[in-house]
Amino acid sequence: MLKRIGVDAVEIRKAEQLAGLDGLIMPGGESTTFAKLAVEFKLLEPLRAFCKSGKPVWGTCAGMIFLAKDIGRAQPTLELMDVKVKRNAFGRQVDSFEIDLDIPALNAIENGSGKPAPFHAIFIRAPLIESVGKGVEVLAKLDDGTIIAARQGNLLATSFHPELTRDVRMHRYFLGLAK
Ligand code: GLN
Repeated sequence: MLKRIGVDAVEIRKAEQLAGLDGLIMPGGESTTFAKLAVEFKLLEPLRAFCKSGKPVWGTCAGMIFLAKDIGRAQPTLELMDVKVKRNAFGRQVDSFEIDLDIPALNAIENGSGKPAPFHAIFIRAPLIESVGKGVEVLAKLDDGTIIAARQGNLLATSFHPELTRDVRMHRYFLGLAK
């Protein structure tokens, strides 16, 4: 997705690769595995330092869990974003779903049609945000009020997987945080 919008994107696996990056996306996957590997490969402190540098950092799904201050269980996270997150909040893998969302922050971003369009969001055994702290802006909610996207300064979190659609607006929004 980043390459499609002209960004020079590289895969990061080690702390020393963080040097020189303008931003970082922590993808989906399995946050319990992230936690184990981040501890084993001594990534927690370098990642915290990167997040605190002010450069944009985006966590999608498991990446969002990994950014959160509170996930209600003893599992290492970066503990940076002032949100309370609940893992696997919509049920098991078979309960994964797709839905069109109204995300006001994306409406100013060109989508090719010249008018605001819903954002098609894909949730795969996704987490939700139970509550947010003072400095956190809620970016999107489900119809029942469930928070599924938020931003705190340079930190962005989405429950869903914007990299699995053709819509690059969420990625463009993220790039905007780099300015
Ligand atoms: N269920 C995963 C977890 O708890 C997240 C799934 C995903 O990233 N799509 O970490």
